[in-house]
Amino acid sequence: MKLSKNHYVIDENQPHIIPTDHPDRQILQQLVNVCPAGLYQLNQDGSLSFDYHGCLECGTCRLLCDEKTLARWRYPTAGYGITFRFG
Ligand code: SF4
Repeated sequence: MKLSKNHYVIDENQPHIIPTDHPDRQILQQLVNVCPAGLYQLNQDGSLSFDYHGCLECGTCRLLCDEKTLARWRYPTAGYGITFRFG
């Protein structure tokens, strides 16, 4: 799938995924490894960089952890999020 063909409408005011302030590092590494869009990144100092822009709404990160790691996981509000384009 060519991700660049997808269309996103970003809700800048309401992130649909919000990590907690001090998530478990081992679980974070799992999220880094599995997110197909590569949105989770661990910095040199161990902090997390996460950008919900580009989320494929696959739910994989939600399945791997709970509210101790992700304070919020929900689908974007109607009218926002990804529209997949194939081809
Ligand atoms: S829902 Fe999927 S694409 Fe979005 S952040 Fe989680 S793993 Fe990545």
